[in-house]
Amino acid sequence: MDFDHTPEQEQLRDAVRALGRRYGHPYFVAKAKAGEHTTELWAEAGRLGYLGVNIPAAYGGGGGGITELAIVGEELAAAGCPLLLLVVSPAIAGTILARHGTGDQRDRFLPGLATGAEKIVFAITEPEAGSNFHRLATVARRDGTDWLLSGRKCFISGVDEAQHVLVVARVEASGRLRPALFLVPTDAPGLTRSPLAMEIVSPERQWLLYFDDVRLPAGALIGGDPQASLPALFAGLNPERITVAAMGAGTARYALDRASAYAATRSVWGRPIGAHQGVAHPLAHAAIQLELARLMIGKAAALYDAGRDLEAGVAANLAKYASSEAATLAVDTAIQVHGGNGMTTEYGVATLLGGVRAGRLAPISREMILNFVAQHVLGQEKSY
Ligand SMILES: Cc1cc2nc3c(=O)[nH]c(=O)nc-3n(C[C@H](O)[C@H](O)[C@H](O)COP(=O)(O)OP(=O)(O)OC[C@H]3O[C@@H](n4cnc5c(N)ncnc54)[C@H](O)[C@@H]3O)c2cc1C
Repeated sequence: MDFDHTPEQEQLRDAVRALGRRYGHPYFVAKAKAGEHTTELWAEAGRLGYLGVNIPAAYGGGGGGITELAIVGEELAAAGCPLLLLVVSPAIAGTILARHGTGDQRDRFLPGLATGAEKIVFAITEPEAGSNFHRLATVARRDGTDWLLSGRKCFISGVDEAQHVLVVARVEASGRLRPALFLVPTDAPGLTRSPLAMEIVSPERQWLLYFDDVRLPAGALIGGDPQASLPALFAGLNPERITVAAMGAGTARYALDRASAYAATRSVWGRPIGAHQGVAHPLAHAAIQLELARLMIGKAAALYDAGRDLEAGVAANLAKYASSEAATLAVDTAIQVHGGNGMTTEYGVATLLGGVRAGRLAPISREMILNFVAQHVLGQEKSY
């Protein structure tokens, strides 16, 4: 068992940390509050190769794995810049295209994902289906060699920043409706969107999408065959969960760094408040939960990169669960340690609340992970 990263991975960590710190949480919050995007940070991270670390080298990427992408996501978040688009674009879309795209799809999209110039977001959630994937009602019908896509999606992150959205729809194949994945231009005729008002301080926004007979060429179907789509969809889920977990861990680190610095210097009884166990123990407890989550993230990423997909599936779920709990605890603890300052914008911890809270709901809720563990790890019967 090896708990160390390679020297290259450590260099990546140091370099991304330095980049993230040059921007920092005040930049992230200012962009969010102005309704703007983190365009400069994204462009610089892309130029430096950080957004494409997991994209195959043959397409201009770093040729690394989810371990490397998790390092990028964690370090940017630890600098106060948790970039959700890192999860949807390189982690989900990048993995799906690299592993299951046709030759044409890989040639067309992977070079842009490698530099960050191309952003692809991901749309699975529907208002009526919720966590029940089997109730997805967005359908694609054949029309000659084209497809016509109709339906609705909700909570789709970053559509306004992306050139394409990877849409999970259902198609008829061998007499049954099966999930299939389509690459849809975000300016396609028939696709309209409206923003969802969210209580999260983030430059990346969520959208409702309406597909009204959106016409797509045959080449928009991932893998070129509806039968290829289910494995393609599953291929994206573990990278998504591991990267989300890494971002949560980074956010927890940021919050605990802020809180530790504050507790060590703030004095109201003649000594730093961190000397009081009522302040120090919650911080220590949160730090322990964070380190446990980071261990599981490292294990999940290592299993995934070793091609051990089934074991990685369990570990990715555990990592996502542990990380979202640890991040929520860390941010809440950091606010408490700051007293009233914890709720100010200036001290930069309450601004993380919405994001970490959403991490317990998305991309998969904590209850659905508990269901997964109960059924697949503990062998319990399914109730739904
Ligand atoms: C900030 C944010 C960004 C998002 N970005 C995207 C995106 O880019 N693309 C995308 O497709 N989606 C996105 N989502 C949607 C997200 O994936 C869903 O919100 C999530 O999967 C939960 O689905 P739901 O909201 O419909 O909840 P529901 O399925 O309605 O569940 C409501 C509650 O009931 C619980 N519940 C449901 N079924 C069970 C059960 N069988 N047992 C126990 N408890 C159960 C859930 O855990 C939850 O607590 C995003 C959501 C948020 C908040």
